Amino acid sequence: MLVVTTTAIALRCPGCGKIKYHSLSLFSFSANKSIQFTCDCGETVLSISTRDRRVFYLQLECLMCEGRHFYQFLLREIWSSRVLSLVCGETGLEVGFIGPREQVRKCIASQERSLREMAEDLGFSDYFKNPEVMFEILDCLHNIAESGRLSCHCGNLQIEVEIFAERVELRCSDCGALGVIDAESREDLDAIKNVWEIMLRPGKLQLVGASKERHHRKRSKK
Ligand SMILES: [Zn+2]
Ligand SMILES: [Zn+2]
Ligand SMILES: [Zn+2]
Repeated sequence: MLVVTTTAIALRCPGCGKIKYHSLSLFSFSANKSIQFTCDCGETVLSISTRDRRVFYLQLECLMCEGRHFYQFLLREIWSSRVLSLVCGETGLEVGFIGPREQVRKCIASQERSLREMAEDLGFSDYFKNPEVMFEILDCLHNIAESGRLSCHCGNLQIEVEIFAERVELRCSDCGALGVIDAESREDLDAIKNVWEIMLRPGKLQLVGASKERHHRKRSKK
């Protein structure tokens, strides 16, 4: 009988938005010491501790809501043949996966399905005024949204995206705030490329320009 003692963990960093894979061995736990999983940018994303190697306590810094989540799992749930997803309690989105490496990769890959792919799949290419610009703008939006930088002033992070021939509309399903991004010309594309963060407000769309220095995010720890 083969007993699996290592498991893969994929985490999205709340600091830089990147995904990093880690591996966790059952034997890396020593009494009362927690194991930290750190992104290449230096941010600690997850820590795991256990007292008895039966119950494991996880503490995750969440990319989506910028809060901190706690989970409790049994040994057999972490070292298992099925993937465990770490879900953000605020937004309901999956922010990390634990399990067999190949399956974890698949979970990440399906999450990565971009807005561009969705639009391409829907056969939208002929419909757009300027497909090239539109697809690049969708990629930009996807990156912004994926890093948790697309939000509404009301706190909602789940923004609906509606794609038209020459523009993209962003709508908050909670408060109805609406934003329009033109997607017709090179200038429209250049404009969105300089955007770091998008926040919807009633009446107008607020685009926050990119800065060259590392962006410091305000984080509220719970
Ligand atoms: Zn990072
Ligand atoms: Zn969260
Ligand atoms: Zn809102």
